[in-house]
Amino acid sequence: MQLTAGNYEAFAQPRKPEGVETKTAHIVGGGLAGLATAGFLIRDGRMDGSRITIYEKSRLLGGALDGIERPEKGFVIRGGREMENHFETLWDLFRSIPSLEIEGASVLDEFYWLNKDDPNYSLCRAT
Ligand SMILES: Cc1cc2nc3c(=O)[nH]c(=O)nc-3n(C[C@H](O)[C@H](O)[C@H](O)COP(=O)(O)OP(=O)(O)OC[C@H]3O[C@@H](n4cnc5c(N)ncnc54)[C@H](O)[C@@H]3O)c2cc1C
Repeated sequence: MQLTAGNYEAFAQPRKPEGVETKTAHIVGGGLAGLATAGFLIRDGRMDGSRITIYEKSRLLGGALDGIERPEKGFVIRGGREMENHFETLWDLFRSIPSLEIEGASVLDEFYWLNKDDPNYSLCRAT
C-alpha cells in the first residue's frame, strides 16, 4: 500500500508479478512479521498460500504476541496490547483478512466494532 499521494495510490492493486505461480516463499519465524509477510505475499504478491512455508520453532504461532492455546476459550493473547490509529500497515493488512466469525466482515471491522462497543485505552503509558 502506498500512502504517498493520499488515497490515489492506497487503493490501487500492484500488478501481478511475472512468474509468481512458479515461485515459493520460505519464511523463518511465525511472529507478527512472518505472518504479515505471508499475508502481503498472498494479497499483493498474488502468491498462492500453498506455495508459502512458515518455519516456527515454537509450538504456537504468534511470537512475542504470546499466544496461548486454549481451544475451549479460543486462542488468546496474554496481557494488553496498545494499538493506535496510525498502524497504517497493520490496519491495511487486517482489512484484507476475512473474519472467522462474521460473514462478510474483515478482522479490521471486528477490531473497530469491538473498540466502539468496549473502548479500550490506558492512561498509564506516555507516548
Ligand atoms: C509483553 C509485551 C507487550 C507488548 N506490547 C505491545 C503493544 O502494546 N503495542 C505494540 O505495538 N507492540 C507491543 N509489543 C511488541 C510486539 O508484540 C512485537 O514487536 C511483535 O510482536 C514482534 O513481532 P516479530 O514477528 O517481529 O517478532 P517475534 O514475535 O519475536 O517473532 C519471531 C518468531 O520467530 C521464531 N523464531 C526465531 N528464530 C527461529 C528459527 N531459527 N527458526 C524458526 N523460528 C524461529 C520465534 O519463535 C518467534 O515466534 C509487546 C511485546 C511484548 C513482549
